[in-house]
Formats: sequence, C-alpha cells, structure tokens
Amino acid sequence: MRLLAAFCLAGVTAFCQQPTPIAITHVTVINPGTSSIQANRTVVISGDRITSVSDAAKVPSPKNTRVIDGTGQYLIPGLWDMHVHSVFGDWFPGGRDIILPLFIANGVTGVRDMGGDAAALMAWRKEIASGKLIGPRMVISGPMLDGYLPNGNLRFPSSIPVKTPADAIAAVDSLKKQGVDFIKIQSEISLDAYRAAAAEAHKQGLPIVGHVPDKVRLREVVEAGQTSVEHLMGIFEGCSTEEDKFIQGQGNLKLLLGTQDKQRCDSLIKLLAQHQTWQVPTLAWQRGGEFLDQPDPKRAPLDKYVPAYWRDVTWRRFTDEMMPDLLKDPLALRQDYFARNLKMVGAMHRAGVPFMAGTDTAPGVYIMPGFSLHDELANFVEAGFTPMESLQTATSNPAKFLGTQASMGAVESGKNADLVLLNANPLTDIRNIRKISAVIVAGRLLDRAALDQMLMQVEAAAKRAK
Ligand SMILES: [Zn+2]
Repeated sequence: MRLLAAFCLAGVTAFCQQPTPIAITHVTVINPGTSSIQANRTVVISGDRITSVSDAAKVPSPKNTRVIDGTGQYLIPGLWDMHVHSVFGDWFPGGRDIILPLFIANGVTGVRDMGGDAAALMAWRKEIASGKLIGPRMVISGPMLDGYLPNGNLRFPSSIPVKTPADAIAAVDSLKKQGVDFIKIQSEISLDAYRAAAAEAHKQGLPIVGHVPDKVRLREVVEAGQTSVEHLMGIFEGCSTEEDKFIQGQGNLKLLLGTQDKQRCDSLIKLLAQHQTWQVPTLAWQRGGEFLDQPDPKRAPLDKYVPAYWRDVTWRRFTDEMMPDLLKDPLALRQDYFARNLKMVGAMHRAGVPFMAGTDTAPGVYIMPGFSLHDELANFVEAGFTPMESLQTATSNPAKFLGTQASMGAVESGKNADLVLLNANPLTDIRNIRKISAVIVAGRLLDRAALDQMLMQVEAAAKRAK
C-alpha cells in the first residue's frame, strides 16, 4: 500500500489507476501504418503500455489480468485530431468538462492544439499526464501569429499580433520560452513577417504549421519549410491562372473556380508531394462552413452536449461574421466548391501528398469534439481514400508527422496503450468507427458503460455551463 502510494506520488499514475494488467483476447488487430489485419490476437496492456500482441490460438489467456473477450471486435490505435482549439479565449466556457471527455468518449486519445491559451493547455496536459483528469495527449502551439484586420482588430482570441519581421521573431522567441511544441500561422500576417517567423522557428527548432496567409502563395509556404497546411489553403489559388489577383485580395469564388489550370495544378501538387508538405483539409468544417445557411439535421442529436453560450454567443457571432461573405456566392457555386475540395484531396492523395485528419473543433460551428473526427474519416473515404488509408490519417500519419512512431500510432508491443475497441469492422464501412465498445487511454480502460457515463456527465456540464 505504502509502495503504491509512493508510486502515485511519483506520478507513475498508470499503476495507481490500473494495478491489474488488461488482456484483450481473440480480437482482430488493425494496424493502419502497415495496412495489416491480424485476426485472433491477444493484446496485453500493463501500466500505460502495450506489452504484447500475440496469436491467441498459441498463447494461453494470461493470468492475473482483467480479460476482455474481443471476439468479433476490432482493435485500432487511438485516434488523433490534428486540428483542434481546446481553450480559445473566452469562446468555450466549461470546455474542460465538455471538450476533453468528448474527445475520449469518441476514441480521440491525442490532439494537436492549433491555437489557444498556452498556460491553460499546459496545465491540463499536466493534470491529464498525472491521471487527475481524463483527456487526450496534447501537442500545443499556444497563441497563433496573426496580423491585424483592416478594422484594427485581431480576428481570433489566443493570437499574438505580428506586423513586422521583428514582431515575428519576438513572438517566436517568446513562445519558445513558454515551451510550446510548434508555431501556428494565421491568415493576416504579411509575407515579410511570415518569412521571418519561419526562419526564426527553424532556428529555434520549432516546426511551423498552419494557414497559408492571404498575402502568401502556397509555393512560398512550401519553400519556407512549413510542415503542415490547413484547410486546403492556397491550393485553388495556386492552381488559378489569376493567382496574383487573389494575392492582391481581389479574387472571388466564381473567379477561383473558373480559372483552375490543370498544368499549374499538377506542378503545385508535385511540389507538395516532393516536399511531403502535410495537408489537414478539415473537410468536416469546410463542408459545415460553406453551408452555414443550410439546416443540418446531423446536429440535432448532439445538441445536448452544447452549452447555450457556445450556440447563442460564440457560434452565432462567428456565423454572423461569415454569413455576409458566404451569401455573396449562390448555393450551387458553394456546392461545386465543396465537391472540388473532395476531388482535390483525392488528386493530391493519389500524387503522394500526405494527409492527416483534423476538424477545427470547437470554433468550427457545430464541429463537435470527437464526433467530427468520425465525420472527417468518412470525408476522406468520400474523397477516394480506402478505409485503411483514412484510418492512417488519424493514427500512423500523426505519429509520422510528430516523429513519435516509437511510442504511438500502432497496436504493437512497447507502444502507448492508447486504443479503440470497435464492435464492427471499420474497413468494410468507415462509419463503423462510431461503434466504440471501449477506449483505452494511457492504459486506462473505459468500457461502454464508463463511456456512456462520461457522455451523461458532459450533458450535465453543458446544461450547467453559462
Ligand atoms: Zn483552426
């Protein structure tokens, strides 16, 4: 007992929470990274690690373990949402009790936070690592580098204003001191400041990721060594024979779609493939954002997890802000644009451009934590990925991108015990990703009953939140 307490104090919390190892027997293991499917495995988890994956027919059921019969079930690595904002100024009150459990309840055991309050996020990360709080693993950018809007304001909270190259260098240096994992770029930053930020980030050993700023070309972003590009930014502009007009801020959607040039596009896609510039197309949000004026029946069942403030203040304000621009383009044009988003993702994928799943939850209007990642995986399949390739975007690809393949992204001995157990095969229908029978995060098992309990607590928290 005393020894156990000492372990807990020392922060070896997996042992406090989960003294008994877990064995999932007779399960089909899917490893997207190697496109492998192995039937009838026994997977043993001890502490916060996977300690063995073996042929269930050849090994006896391990003793002194909690045995989960995985017959007829599928085990995949925990999912990562590579574009989230979990703490975004005052936009999401109550987020700690809503956003974090919704990720976990949906099998999202890791997130890349693409802009937020660094101190708050790092405090959460610490609590999660110590086992005090259940939530996903996090990599964190802290505040985003952005320029001012013409009205003199910053568009988003959790932003650092950057006007000059000197501002950019100071911002990167200050974020480095705060211990962030990477630098996130937003849309309003100038080309000079952008280049200075990229150079300083490289000097400080921090990856630079994010938007293709309005005044910058996709080609320039690739050449500056940006490692991920969000929301398919810059690609349609770069494929357009009128790219200059867009850089000067004189474009519109009709011009964009009417001036796409195959040769320009092929050479740009080739450049992205050569540089292995990761794409996080956030298709769930692209789709949602293009059709904000259209009722979406998918929202209704998730309403109970949405605090009134998010719906009536945050998302309303954001919608009101976007709507005038949106309504300039007829619905048919926006539908065409989204269809071309899917086609573009398919074309880039076939050309060898690497992809990751990201959603832009929670600022994306009704882009719900966790649930939206399942939508995104279905979007990839709609764009032409196989279900296995779609699973890669949220498992092995994030591991590759983050350089953490030794510890995550696969169901293998020695890896973190972050796993999702499914009742149905996601390879026959990617929507089976929703049929979760258990989530294991850092070795902690949450069975269906525990997950349902979490969801009920989220519902209560959403009602409570002001
Ligand atoms: Zn975002």
